Amino acid sequence: MVCLADLDNLQIARDLIAAGLRLSIVRSLTGLGTRILRKLWKEIHGASPKNGRLPDTVLSFIEDYDSAAKLAAFVSIHKIVYSVSVPALANYKLHHLSLTPQSLLNAWKDFQLINTTDLDINAAYFAARDVGIQIVMFAKCRTCDARFIYDSGKKYTERCPFCRTRIV
Ligand SMILES: [Zn+2]
Repeated sequence: MVCLADLDNLQIARDLIAAGLRLSIVRSLTGLGTRILRKLWKEIHGASPKNGRLPDTVLSFIEDYDSAAKLAAFVSIHKIVYSVSVPALANYKLHHLSLTPQSLLNAWKDFQLINTTDLDINAAYFAARDVGIQIVMFAKCRTCDARFIYDSGKKYTERCPFCRTRIV
């Protein structure tokens, strides 16, 4: 029997698919089956979902200072949204928490509202996930105090994308 929690989950999956989140990610976030998700994708987009391999980390999505700045801004919004949507967990260190389908969706919608350019929700997912599990550092710039995705040895992640100052 379908309960209210199942319907909520289905609604979030529907919204994430409409936003363009790849089905393998929607499946891992919601726990829903591939068959129903593929059906939803076809109904919403009028075409079959893409297959193809997903990137390993957020670094694949950072192609210039603009994408580095956008993803850093998204991670900051996600941390705020997550701490609001999960008040019971507010005492825990936020960067150790994994993201939820609802926190990803809400933060992505908020980002779209305050930015003029679109953000790929798949890149947003990898950014929040990789900062959360500390595959990349969410460093603080010593010059402008903004936080950004730091990974040494990569052109667009070894300095602050907002003021382009080197961290080391
Ligand atoms: Zn800076």
